Amino acid sequence: MNEQKDYDYLVIGGGSGGIASANRAGMHGAKVALIEEGNLGGTCVNLGCVPKKVMWYVAEMMDSLNHYAEGYGLEFSDKPSLNFEKLATNRKKYIDFLHKAYEKGLDSNNVELIKGRARFVDDFTVEVNGKKITAHHILIATGGKPKRLDIPGGELGMVSDDVFELTKLPESIAVIGGGYIGVEMSNIFHALGIDTHLFVRKPRPLNNFDSIICEGFTAISENEGRKISANKTVIELKELDSGSYELYFEDGTTHRTDMVLWATGRTPNTSGLNLEAAGVSLYPGGYIEIDKYQNTTGQHIYAVGDVTGRVELTPVAIAAGRRLAERLFNDKENEYLPYDNIPTVIFTHPPIGTIGMTEEEAHDRYPEEKVKIYTSTFTSMHSSITDNRQKAYMKLVCVGKREKIVGLHGIGKGMDEILQGFAVAVQMGATKRDFDRTVAIHPTASEEFVTMK
Ligand SMILES: Cc1cc2nc3c(=O)[nH]c(=O)nc-3n(C[C@H](O)[C@H](O)[C@H](O)COP(=O)(O)OP(=O)(O)OC[C@H]3O[C@@H](n4cnc5c(N)ncnc54)[C@H](O)[C@@H]3O)c2cc1C
Repeated sequence: MNEQKDYDYLVIGGGSGGIASANRAGMHGAKVALIEEGNLGGTCVNLGCVPKKVMWYVAEMMDSLNHYAEGYGLEFSDKPSLNFEKLATNRKKYIDFLHKAYEKGLDSNNVELIKGRARFVDDFTVEVNGKKITAHHILIATGGKPKRLDIPGGELGMVSDDVFELTKLPESIAVIGGGYIGVEMSNIFHALGIDTHLFVRKPRPLNNFDSIICEGFTAISENEGRKISANKTVIELKELDSGSYELYFEDGTTHRTDMVLWATGRTPNTSGLNLEAAGVSLYPGGYIEIDKYQNTTGQHIYAVGDVTGRVELTPVAIAAGRRLAERLFNDKENEYLPYDNIPTVIFTHPPIGTIGMTEEEAHDRYPEEKVKIYTSTFTSMHSSITDNRQKAYMKLVCVGKREKIVGLHGIGKGMDEILQGFAVAVQMGATKRDFDRTVAIHPTASEEFVTMK
């Protein structure tokens, strides 16, 4: 390589994708620097997966104590209560520990960490803290941020980032948005005993997921007294003198609440990067245009993760970042991440797991083939001796004579941990017969997937 550049690889953004790619390039001996303006770990560690999952765990515990403990004969003198300050302190300690672990990881791969905000000068040069840095290859892994609705009062209320700054929980909250973040957050608040109302614009929450997920989630939510209103479009938010808020909907109705959370989508962090100077084009909406190898339209400039708008999940950003580094610095010319068959869990109560095509997508994709659907709905054993009997819903989407499994979907206790193993099978091209030939594990919920008739 031409020795006139400061680095072989310059990575902008120290989140999931950037760190993974920088470390992998460093492992292969490249001279690497990573620029990060905030805390290491990006959205996932600081404002996403990690703090959210901590909240999910406590919500899961509260849910068990409030709904199932009594049926198992557990007795308490008082209802369980949450010391929110202690939870927030311990959560912060864990995140601080992760920051140090990431720093160590960069050190051990000889990746230089530069703190500051990056901006392109030209296609080989980036400016940070007033200093110009050059590199042979530059990766944009700047992620995204939550988006508010562009309506009167849109600036009022919280976004998901603010949830992890709360020092006290409200008595009531309205969550706006039926995507996975809105659904997860509203479930957590509900399980923690907050009067929670989820408002979604579509006919049902999680509208893009397989019908069994939407139906199962809605049925379980109704059974457990969660408030969900569908076909609701917010047109205005006002703060009242009392300090509470009033939401106004298109259909003329209103809703009063102590707190509002906008879970109304995310927007990529591309503004301020001066991408024009590097010849990097954007799709409408600001996402960076890439090909299947993560190449942008700029020469030797690449993008991975949320900033590309392709399946916005941490392991996706990590896999894309690592494969790119393998291609650039380990001679694996054809290495790239295919974006199909990506397993996803939604951390609701109970959790949702899904991989591959929905039933509808399979019919569209294979119009000439027979699409065979197997489903199972049953009462989860963990709830069966309690008054709060909770159902689980599962579905397999199979295609063709061999009944290749192209989609697997479920909502039920344990679905979060069940999915990964089944994802391997689906990724390998398993058929229904392979599932049938697999001996069940009893008594579990996962055995339903290998015993469906
Ligand atoms: C509430 C919530 C819950 C989530 N839960 C899950 C989950 O359970 N599982 C899952 O897989 N995913 C989850 N996600 C998604 C996941 O967090 C993202 O997909 C992932 O973090 C994307 O990684 P990234 O590397 O693309 O960007 P990020 O992790 O966002 O990192 C981008 C980094 O770039 C930095 N940066 C931006 N611009 C500049 C600049 N100009 N100069 C220097 N630095 C810059 C930012 O400070 C940031 O640290 C969740 C997200 C949210 C919001």
